[in-house]
Amino acid sequence: MAKAKNNNQQTLEMEKIVSLCKRRSFLFPASEIYGGLANSYSYGPYGVELKNNIKQLWWKKFVSQRSDVVGIDGPILLHPKMWEASGHTTGFNDALVDCKKCKKRFRADHLIEEATGEDLEGEMEKMDAAIRENEIKCPECGSFDWSEVKKFNLMFQTEMNGIDEPVYLRPETAGAIFIEFKNILNSMRVKLPFGIAQIGKAFRNEIVAGNFIFRLREFEQMEIEYFIHPETKWEPIFQNWLKLQEEFVQEVGADKKDIRRNEHEPEKLSHYSHKTVDVEYKFPFGFKELYGLAHRGDFDLTQHSKYSRENLEYYDPETKEKVTPHVLEPSFGLDRTILVALLSAYTEEEIEGETRVVMKFPKKIAPVKIAIFPLLKNKPKLVKKAQEIFEELKYSYTCEYDEVGSIGKRYRRQDEIGTPYCLTVDFDTLEKDNTVTIRDRDTMEQTRVNIKELKDYFADKL
Ligand code: ATP
Repeated sequence: MAKAKNNNQQTLEMEKIVSLCKRRSFLFPASEIYGGLANSYSYGPYGVELKNNIKQLWWKKFVSQRSDVVGIDGPILLHPKMWEASGHTTGFNDALVDCKKCKKRFRADHLIEEATGEDLEGEMEKMDAAIRENEIKCPECGSFDWSEVKKFNLMFQTEMNGIDEPVYLRPETAGAIFIEFKNILNSMRVKLPFGIAQIGKAFRNEIVAGNFIFRLREFEQMEIEYFIHPETKWEPIFQNWLKLQEEFVQEVGADKKDIRRNEHEPEKLSHYSHKTVDVEYKFPFGFKELYGLAHRGDFDLTQHSKYSRENLEYYDPETKEKVTPHVLEPSFGLDRTILVALLSAYTEEEIEGETRVVMKFPKKIAPVKIAIFPLLKNKPKLVKKAQEIFEELKYSYTCEYDEVGSIGKRYRRQDEIGTPYCLTVDFDTLEKDNTVTIRDRDTMEQTRVNIKELKDYFADKL
């Protein structure tokens, strides 16, 4: 059996990923030249390719390749009333507690869970007592001198010209979907059951952001609201969505053994929810929520109908009845998915006494598919041929041309980017048989392929 990792190993694993991400242009700490800003990150050139590939994979699987799901792209700023309707203005709170000595701020439920294993999320009234009774000390300075546990609303507030009340940066993408429900009904030929999907930014003023891109204040979600008839037997549909969520994380590289389900206990469910299950992943810092799936009943449509005074019922042309559909909400965090893809791909191999670091991404999400090299950069004929191949292949695959440094160094760089194939033009290409060397990232095997056959070769491999 694999041994449990200790704290040092966990930190080391994350440090290696963070350092590789910076070195190889996946992710940079944002605003770095100004000293950084509260755990925010910019996706660099390879990071954005990886991100786009994952989004595309998701969109294909859950929108384009399904006849029962349509997509939208709604705004980040929405009518403030909608957050009253959804309960976010009053209820989207976390519990915070401050250490009076070192002034460090914590999420009270996280502090208690780490110290006692007890999950008190949402049970604000029990938290002060739990901290006192368990004499939980400040993890930062070790003192026992806490403020009272306070509610903190996680929505970012801003102002909009012409609007008197505050407007909010959306804390989840789902809101925009509910308020377009009527437009979709009126303009698309949707029939229950059907889903509306969206990928986009969400903002939460998290009390403590951290663990790299696991908990950010600005992040992206990929969400679906799947509307069903209120009398439908929903359990099999719910189970199928869970299966699809688990399938998706494996498609980006996760190992099945690192995924588990965590069903919320009935007493922890929101009053409207029939069932909520988190899909958790074994991050280096423990099993944590990766995705969520909730049966939200008719809460959202009913609330938005009440607050907007619009009828948000669905008319069934066959039975001639009007119903308020129920909704299942599969929610995927994009940045957490990217973290899983990075952690799953990271591999160290011992090769002839040296450590090879290689990102074994599934090919479909690899940021670069083919790297093209001339053997030497000071041989114009090699360079010309390699550039011709680049010009030819770039329309079908994300390619990169590189002529800097030794071939060995160029391979190592592409291994860390996770490029499945490196193609080298050498003297044999020009003088002998018009073939190039193709080196496979995972097996490191090298094959000679005729330039005329490259398209077929990659069509087969990629
Ligand atoms: P957590 O318990 O970790 O705070 P949550 O239950 O509040 O998460 P949801 O409201 O269910 O999260 O949001 C749906 C998904 O959005 C989560 O499963 C996660 O993947 C992602 N997500 C939520 N908050 C963040 C964040 N601060 N940073 C990055 N991703 C996030």
